[in-house]
Amino acid sequence: MKVKESRKPGRAGKLVYFFGSGKADGDAGMKNLLGGKGANLAEMASLGLPVPPGFTITTEVCTHFYANGRRYPAALKEQVAAALSGVEKILSLGFGDPKNPLLLSVRSGARSSMPGMMETVLNVGLTSATIPGMIAKTGSARFVYDAYRRLIMMYADVVMEKAAGLEPAEGQGVRMQLEHLMEDLKKGHGYTSDTQLTAEELEDLCDRFKAKVREVIGTEFPDDARAQLWGGIGAVFQSWNGKRAISYRKIEGIPDNWGTAVTVQAMVFGNMGDDCATGVAFTRNPGTGENAFYGEWLVNAQGEDVVAGIRTPNALNEHATNDQNRNLPTLEKTMPGLYMELVGYRNKLEKHYRDMQDLEFTIQSGRLFMLQTRVGKRNGPAALRMAVEMVRERLIDKATAVSRVRPGQLDELLHPMIDPVHERDFKPIAKGLPAGPGGATGRIVLTADRAAEWGKAGEKVVLVRQETSPEDVHGMHASEAILTAKGGMTSHAALVARGWGKCCIVGAGAVHINLTQRTVDIGGTVLREGDVITLNGSKGLIYAGALPLVVSDLEQNRDLKDFLHWCDGIRALGVRTNADTPADAAQARRFGAAGIGLCRTEHMFFGEERIRAMREMILSENLLEREQAIFNLLPFQKEDFKGILSAMAGLPVTIRLLDPPLHEFVPHEERLVRELAVGMGKNLEAVKARIEKLQELNPMLGHRGCRLGITYPEITRMQATAILEATAELLGDKVDARPEIMIPLVGTVQELTDQKAIVLAVAAEVKKKYGIRKLPFTVGTMIEVPRAAITADEIAAEAEFFSFGTNDLTQMCCGFSRDDAGSFLPSYVEKKIYADDPFISLDTAGVGKLMQIAVQLGRGTRPGLKMGICGEHGGDPASIRFCHDLGLDYVSCSPFRVPIARLAAAQAELANPRGAVRKPKAGAKKKAVPKKRR
Ligand code: PEP
Ligand code: MG
Repeated sequence: MKVKESRKPGRAGKLVYFFGSGKADGDAGMKNLLGGKGANLAEMASLGLPVPPGFTITTEVCTHFYANGRRYPAALKEQVAAALSGVEKILSLGFGDPKNPLLLSVRSGARSSMPGMMETVLNVGLTSATIPGMIAKTGSARFVYDAYRRLIMMYADVVMEKAAGLEPAEGQGVRMQLEHLMEDLKKGHGYTSDTQLTAEELEDLCDRFKAKVREVIGTEFPDDARAQLWGGIGAVFQSWNGKRAISYRKIEGIPDNWGTAVTVQAMVFGNMGDDCATGVAFTRNPGTGENAFYGEWLVNAQGEDVVAGIRTPNALNEHATNDQNRNLPTLEKTMPGLYMELVGYRNKLEKHYRDMQDLEFTIQSGRLFMLQTRVGKRNGPAALRMAVEMVRERLIDKATAVSRVRPGQLDELLHPMIDPVHERDFKPIAKGLPAGPGGATGRIVLTADRAAEWGKAGEKVVLVRQETSPEDVHGMHASEAILTAKGGMTSHAALVARGWGKCCIVGAGAVHINLTQRTVDIGGTVLREGDVITLNGSKGLIYAGALPLVVSDLEQNRDLKDFLHWCDGIRALGVRTNADTPADAAQARRFGAAGIGLCRTEHMFFGEERIRAMREMILSENLLEREQAIFNLLPFQKEDFKGILSAMAGLPVTIRLLDPPLHEFVPHEERLVRELAVGMGKNLEAVKARIEKLQELNPMLGHRGCRLGITYPEITRMQATAILEATAELLGDKVDARPEIMIPLVGTVQELTDQKAIVLAVAAEVKKKYGIRKLPFTVGTMIEVPRAAITADEIAAEAEFFSFGTNDLTQMCCGFSRDDAGSFLPSYVEKKIYADDPFISLDTAGVGKLMQIAVQLGRGTRPGLKMGICGEHGGDPASIRFCHDLGLDYVSCSPFRVPIARLAAAQAELANPRGAVRKPKAGAKKKAVPKKRR
């Protein structure tokens, strides 16, 4: 049977749902009503698993409690009493019964897990009347008084203090005071562990505890089982509005009106002797995904002892052994019969839930009890392996597998990363923005030249800079990772690093570089150039020293290939890449990119010979000089385009004409300026003056984009010639080249018309020169200026395609500089002024609205107008979902994010199908029409 995902409503008037002895009123589909814990306990009970009997009070009671001045519905008392007597009957015990006492646990359970945010009370029902009976039954006064002191401590803290709204000063809470009493007692006897306390000492401690409670809180600890139970229930409901729970809900976006359920269940004890145990298990290995039972257990212990890390837990079986527990006996060896029984439940639960389960069990006096099952958390590699293997085992279908892996988890497979097992043991020295994922370790270098030099010598280096500029690219390329003190997620360093799949952290304000001393102060730790650091670019964490990395080989990963292939079968949105070199294009193609959505041609000018020609062009003082300089670049550009168009043969390649402000290309260091002046045969002062003149106050809003082509049409002419001649020559060689020429930073249709005219004139010349009638190219534009978005109807009359440049569109729509926003955006996100950094995840309400307007207006003028996105958001899963919903044709992202985008696009389709099912022709078999992907 498959567990239904439906959120089943409860029965009218039913407030309490019983489970136990093979039967249950509820099931796993009732999470909204019974909470995750209650719903799964009910399901396990119905499956016939040995679940201690109990009952769940619904979340609706919680909602009623808060809506009615903290009062319960009238029928609750009676329904709880009936359920409780059901529990008593199954176990032949009585709650509060002096001879055969039943003890209960009272736990919270929201519909989505809120780990540790609400309260629990255990051992409820221990009173002066029931204690002697418990001692007689268990034969251990020590065990009973130990349970009693735990109850007093928990109850005083949770029920008598927190739920009563008492707010003692820091360190004055009742729990702390009771803990001090116990510590003093242990110290007095010279004990180091709780287990050394004797029965008499614990009994005496319980009396002291009760006296302390009276003194601190002013009321007696209740000596009545039912009073304890109702106190516990009330406290769990109150804990829904405790400080921790409220802030957790805010962070996770969990609505306040969901409420928590309360599950009351018979206690079972794993700490009653050596035939008792407790453990946590996963139906498959959550670290690797291997289909092997995995877990830990402790003999004679309570559940919390396994997770608390006070004792080293034993391995469940041979598979789960590691360096720490290798010498400890496994459950498989110690209690083979019970282990086999547990394996049986493992198989049953996984088959039933069709997903990896995280189980809690307790063995009491040789009897196994199942206390919890829930979907287990897993890391990226494990998520992928489980999803793929479960399809092969026919446990789930492909769509389910695709929905089970979070796009971020694929990232873990695509980059080397810090070994998570070891990362936990280290403390980061500072934090920045996670601009390029993965992990890297290397020696600190403070200049790009030194990075290139050391890199060439085979050193692994991390380039640490205030910020980076195009002058640093050689050093950036030679480095394992890049760390900058300034800059946001779309700053130069971030863009370049992401393009190369390089680990990168930007905007780390705690990084202070001292170039004279060649030191860097990172969050108070002063390191010298040459010292080793490690970066976690996925989280933005900086560590001193070398942390171990783990690498995975994508090419060899059969599971990943199959999985992504299934994604392709589902998605409607195309995935292209942003690539500027044939090598990147080829890499992206291997990752599954269906073309290039953005080739930033400026990145092609950074080679030594080219940058000289470029600089000469910029610094020329008349048209003739300029034309000469720029046309020196033509052969280089033509070769570049041939390389990139061939690497993507048969697929579209969007080539954007020159975009960045010109001053980015000129040198600023005195030495380099002098060299340039000499090389150009010009006067040093004249060159300096020209460079000075190129400086702009707001270069991002200055002389860049199509404004360059409008003021210097020869740039456009040269680039169009290079693209179209490359195409003509490739076609002659039977290479299917498909360029799309993109004009950047257009705000009015006239700008586009001006630039397009140049391209068309060049096309006519190229056709003539090569004697061909047809050249397969289109001319389109980027939508990255708000004015372009709101006049998209006019622009679409000229543009054959749109590509949303959401980096600039965000900058101009929100009014945030993309280079400096790192200094204040983290506070904006922290204060929830923006839900996310808008340069990482699309601001759908603002920037998204502009996109929506542009889509509507553009397709109004030109139905079927091809549209994509090439800003950094094209690789962000939430933004991809938005682009899918908006009806874009494709997203374009850096090569290493292509697999992530393929998955995110498939998940977007599963969540919101585009519904491209056409009516079948009469007599034809009904089948979905394949959706177009570009
Ligand atoms: C953009 O603005 O979104 C874009 C892709 O162009 P660039 O980042 O190169 O300005
Ligand atoms: Mg742009």
